[in-house]
Amino acid sequence: MTLDRKALDASVDELGADLSDLSRRIHAHPELCFEERQASAWLGECLERELGAKVERGVGGLETAFRARVGRGSPRIAILAEYDALPEIGHACGHNLIAGSAVGAFLALARQALHFEGSVEIIGTPAEEGGGGKIKLLEAGVFEGIDAAMMFHPFDRDILAHPALCSMRIAMTYVGVPAHAAAAPFAGKSALTACMETFRLIDSQRVHFRDGVRVHGIISNGGQAVNVIVEHAASEFTLRAATSAELERVKGIVLRCARAAAMAGDVSVSFTEKPGYREMRNNLTMARRFGAALEALGRNARETDTRVGAGSTDMGDLSLHLPSIHPYLAICDEGESLCHEHRFADCAASDRGMSTMLVAAKAMARTALDLLEDPKLFGEVRREFEAARG
Ligand SMILES: [Zn+2]
Ligand SMILES: [Zn+2]
Repeated sequence: MTLDRKALDASVDELGADLSDLSRRIHAHPELCFEERQASAWLGECLERELGAKVERGVGGLETAFRARVGRGSPRIAILAEYDALPEIGHACGHNLIAGSAVGAFLALARQALHFEGSVEIIGTPAEEGGGGKIKLLEAGVFEGIDAAMMFHPFDRDILAHPALCSMRIAMTYVGVPAHAAAAPFAGKSALTACMETFRLIDSQRVHFRDGVRVHGIISNGGQAVNVIVEHAASEFTLRAATSAELERVKGIVLRCARAAAMAGDVSVSFTEKPGYREMRNNLTMARRFGAALEALGRNARETDTRVGAGSTDMGDLSLHLPSIHPYLAICDEGESLCHEHRFADCAASDRGMSTMLVAAKAMARTALDLLEDPKLFGEVRREFEAARG
């Protein structure tokens, strides 16, 4: 039996007011990565109230992660919720809407669970902003046995399969020799000069970067006293590229620049590297099916849009392990604002934000049901994933 998609839409509409309340409450109480206790509790309570079933909390050893499941056996489809905010600018990435849409899609499917084969789960994934929650859950085996994963992300336009860059961080520590900056500057060796020179040398090498590479940094320690030649200085860089091979090459250039700057100033430099997120491998078969669902709901999405840049997400890491999609949907006009801006935080609590959240919930529910009901489609998703893995 093929289930009526309109029943899914109706469930989401029925839950609409509650989902908007929940999303706005999370928006009004922004919590940073791994500290999303309130958001995680509210989401869990909403699921338990509507579902009458137990929500598993603290999955994968992460206090603010959770999971609930309906249906039985395979295939197993996961719908992911994010709910962490950013320092200073709060929910400027709109993760409150990601959370609301995941709950909406999951609950709509839960109401139909007796009528389909396979299972659907909602997984609450903390700390996308810098904490890599999905990577930790992946390592803890939380995604074992899951056949496909999906989520939506708010944006300024509708895009089905936008790239996300792989990334890493490098912290640099410079040590020089202190001296009185006026009485005996010739006796000192400035750690700060080498630190600043690193930025200039990296800029000089940008011409050799491939398209899409991003290298951006801050000085995290520029010295303590203006009358002392700086003994200790430090900087932090994020490096991003479309592929891990290019990222590795760019890393080599960045380290070379830092060493050259240190050599010029006769100071020492040391590095601490921290892996970031992997590049996103969008499953186009799934993304296009999501696009068809969107079209049925009255929205036309482009497959990608080269006029707008890409960021990084821990969904990238997941997408290399199982078929995944991370489509973007507009919560404002094109060009009006992008993620991580004050204006975008306002949009994430607006009526337009809420209505996009509900459209995303419906489109995800429809896509998940398509995957559960259509083994041929599921086979194509799997084949595409295996082919891309090579
Ligand atoms: Zn963000
Ligand atoms: Zn985000």
